Amino acid sequence: MEKKKFERPVIKKVQIGMPSKFGLKSEYAPIKEIDGVPVKDLIQQYGSPLYVFSEKTIRETYAEAYKAFSTRYPKVQFAWSYKTNYLNAICKVFHREGSWAEVVSGFEYEKALKNGVPGNQIIFNGPYKTKEDLVTAIKNHSYIHIDHYDEYYMLIDIAEELQLRPQVAVRVNMDTGIYPQWSRFGFNYENGEAWDIVQRILISNKMDLVGLHCHIGTYIMVPWAYSTAMNKLIDLFLGIEKKFNKHLQYIDIGGGFASKNTLKGAYLPGTDTCPTFDQYADSITSTLINSSINIEHLPTLILETGRGLIDDAGYLLGTVHATKRLPDGKNSYITDIGVNLLFTSFWYDYKITPAQEFGPYTEESVVYGPLCMNIDVLREYVQLPPMKKGDHFVISRIGAYNNTQWMQFIMYRPNVVLIDTDKKTHIIRKKENYETFAIQEQIPEHLK
Ligand SMILES: *Cc1c(COP(=O)(O)O)cnc(C)c1O
Repeated sequence: MEKKKFERPVIKKVQIGMPSKFGLKSEYAPIKEIDGVPVKDLIQQYGSPLYVFSEKTIRETYAEAYKAFSTRYPKVQFAWSYKTNYLNAICKVFHREGSWAEVVSGFEYEKALKNGVPGNQIIFNGPYKTKEDLVTAIKNHSYIHIDHYDEYYMLIDIAEELQLRPQVAVRVNMDTGIYPQWSRFGFNYENGEAWDIVQRILISNKMDLVGLHCHIGTYIMVPWAYSTAMNKLIDLFLGIEKKFNKHLQYIDIGGGFASKNTLKGAYLPGTDTCPTFDQYADSITSTLINSSINIEHLPTLILETGRGLIDDAGYLLGTVHATKRLPDGKNSYITDIGVNLLFTSFWYDYKITPAQEFGPYTEESVVYGPLCMNIDVLREYVQLPPMKKGDHFVISRIGAYNNTQWMQFIMYRPNVVLIDTDKKTHIIRKKENYETFAIQEQIPEHLK
């Protein structure tokens, strides 16, 4: 007979009063495998902590998003937002699915080119493009989204110098009725600045204005905000047709779709509040179709969806290093996942799920990382079944922004693994080691 697994008892205060609508059920199921590959095996083979990406989930999520838009509008193009996750293997999955690249720096631009993306399928956004960046982008016929007047003047100079016509779009910022309003990128719609730059570009005739762009914010929970944004871009689009008799090729509505993660302080879980791709698509494409743009001149709709496409596909696997009872009686865990590996834990209350069977009882716990820093807290208050030293757990929906905003701090960053659609595992970024850093450093002669 197999020995029964011991699980330590938990002590719980009796709460007097009615349970809330969401307070009845705290148990959930362990995550023992990802796409059929056991978590235990993954950790055994590649170590802990470990980032794991599901190629199946990426492709399914992309297909769902693409379908939502392409069934409602004839000309749709996604451009993968590199800064959301620029591990080359991840980018390549999106490119294989048909995505262009959307980049915001010279480094990202270089990555996109090396990933085999043709220059005329790269969209170059962002407030900081150097002269060198712009020259490369112009020579490669990439789409440059102008952020400010100084960039526009720089483009005019370069265009004259190279005797080439840059392909440009104007980034527009605007009030879409949501808070906070992002006004620092691009040209403002309401004060007339966007219309002003559009006219200057067309009158100067030094570059080809091919599109309009906006990116109204991130984790936008209300699809109608996109309709407001689209209406304002359409107003500019029609203004250009009327005054200059010119039809732009595309309208790029940016990224910003929410993911199913739960924001800190949110009353309802993100899984209940996140709009579907269909809802976003409805809001955006209805506005386009119901506008007075002539059917023959309908622009291509470009989407730069980031977190909405990748969050669900990423997992961070970890191990309990120690358990500790705090002076106030609260249970705490010291784990091997620091906030430097999960930068987005500052905004999200991540779901942490044990990777092995557990009983029906949970306990309020604090989950710490391994860093010798007070801010290294993954969850301040979370109901968890008791775990012990050596137990594994899974943090879900971590695919966006963590592999770009991560920080090396006192330890090496771990392996990143992709599970392909045949359930085969591949390292897509190797664990760092002493050499990774030694290579970058130099010792002055007198200190040798
Ligand atoms: C970051 C960014 C995106 C992606 O945003 P998400 O909120 O992750 O969808 C798209 N476009 C631009 C210009 C961005 O800066």
